[in-house]
Amino acid sequence: MKKLLFLLIAISIASCAPDKLPADLLIKNATIYTVDKDFSTANALVIKDGKILEIGLKPELELKYRIKETYDAKGNTIVPGLIDAHAHLYGLGLELRNVDLIGTTSFDEVLERVLAFQEEKNMPYIIGRGWDQNDWDDKNFPTKKELDSLFPDTPVSLRRIDGHAMLVNSKALKLAGITSKTKVAGGEIIMENGEPTGIIIDAPMSLLWKTFPKITEEVSIEALLEAEKICLKYGLTTVDDAGLNRNIIEMIDSLQKERKFKLRMYTMVSNSPENLDYYLKKGIYKTDRLNVRSFKVYADGALGSRGAAMREPYSDMPHHFGAMITTADSLDYLAEKFAVSEFQMNTHAIGDSANIAVLRAYKKALEGKTNKRWRVEHAQIISNEDFGYFSDNNNILPSVQPTHATSDMYWAGDRVGAERIKGAYAYKELLNKAGSIALGTDFPVEQVNPMYTFYAAVARKDLKNYPAEGFQIKDALTREEALRGMTIWAAFANFEEKEKGSIEVGKFADFTILDKDIMKVDEKELPNTKVLATFINGEMVYEAK
Ligand SMILES: [Zn+2]
Repeated sequence: MKKLLFLLIAISIASCAPDKLPADLLIKNATIYTVDKDFSTANALVIKDGKILEIGLKPELELKYRIKETYDAKGNTIVPGLIDAHAHLYGLGLELRNVDLIGTTSFDEVLERVLAFQEEKNMPYIIGRGWDQNDWDDKNFPTKKELDSLFPDTPVSLRRIDGHAMLVNSKALKLAGITSKTKVAGGEIIMENGEPTGIIIDAPMSLLWKTFPKITEEVSIEALLEAEKICLKYGLTTVDDAGLNRNIIEMIDSLQKERKFKLRMYTMVSNSPENLDYYLKKGIYKTDRLNVRSFKVYADGALGSRGAAMREPYSDMPHHFGAMITTADSLDYLAEKFAVSEFQMNTHAIGDSANIAVLRAYKKALEGKTNKRWRVEHAQIISNEDFGYFSDNNNILPSVQPTHATSDMYWAGDRVGAERIKGAYAYKELLNKAGSIALGTDFPVEQVNPMYTFYAAVARKDLKNYPAEGFQIKDALTREEALRGMTIWAAFANFEEKEKGSIEVGKFADFTILDKDIMKVDEKELPNTKVLATFINGEMVYEAK
């Protein structure tokens, strides 16, 4: 009897103690770059309820937890879920409905692609984007002549790669009511022999947008979902959309709540009177997957189309300074408005004149404050004496796109000359001053693939591995810095570093599995790195076939 009792006690101890803790998922056999403070590595992690429960070594974790599911990473590399700190997700989705003109090597090729597209889709209004006359033998802006003869009755509007210039045909001009007498501040309607050539720069483009076919709710939803799919495939788990209106932000929120849209989003609200009115009253809005806590403002245009506002004339166009889209006074006014709210002010600034106007406005409005994390989007050309503005107690952060450097390097020097180019795409200098730097792509202006960002940041080369020594290599980031820029520093720029951006206990189980160890692999292999799987909230949202 004593023996039996002892046996019963022994069995009951074995079955309930040592009781294993329940967990949802064990990821094992991986090289995990946690991107924590010490940049430490691990080989296994345990996930429960969408969060990281423990990080460590497989045998001890297996002993400790009763695990529902195990995923064998087969020795591959895991990094925190990648964040694109500046992109246009909705824009990408809409672009998929337009003619893609990226990579065209001549204007003839542009025409060929438009013809082929229209043959297939038969759109009432042909919209395209992505041409860049700097890539052609003839580097002059094209004109509407050929489009007029090919499409006399169908409006055509083709935006330049940077989105700051547009080629349209006569039918589109007519619809928009643009004549030789039309004048719009903040841009240009280029004329020749008293007639519009078909090239429209910056502000007057809005006259054309007003005549574009209406985008229905179905079209918007489809665009968001298609763009999301592409992002998940490239290992992105959070995307910062740099400029959305209320209706699209609310659409994302509903799709996420219905679990149709898994990607996390940080959205910058477009600076319009209706948006200001609504969101400044409402205040910031945050769920686990959506963060609405910034406004996007445009200080100037782009460098390629010479719309960027420069202190001195362009080196390749005498007397031309580019133009501010939002004047320095308006920037000051907006900054004062945002400074008394919880919203960040995130301003697009390319030229050195635009950058200093933004930096001054920020500094003045944030006087006496700390940690406001207002962002300078692009921070592209900075005068040497202005870099110091970024050392301001985390009030001002740079948000840059390394593939812009390697796309623009072929002609940026022509625009600004040998002296000013030294302060252009100066990521290392910005990092040194600010203490962190958020990296993104600006897709669909550049490609979505974040591995191109990583490569451009560390090698300062494009996909042709040009130039051999790297473009202004002094401003290259180390691999660790680049990875931080795409994870924890991007999260910091979003005020989200407590919940994402690194693989640490208590944070969201967002991570990306790569087929190469990007911290160690040969530099030229970096752009060929493929995503094997993407996890958001502990759920696999993409797996390579
Ligand atoms: Zn952008």
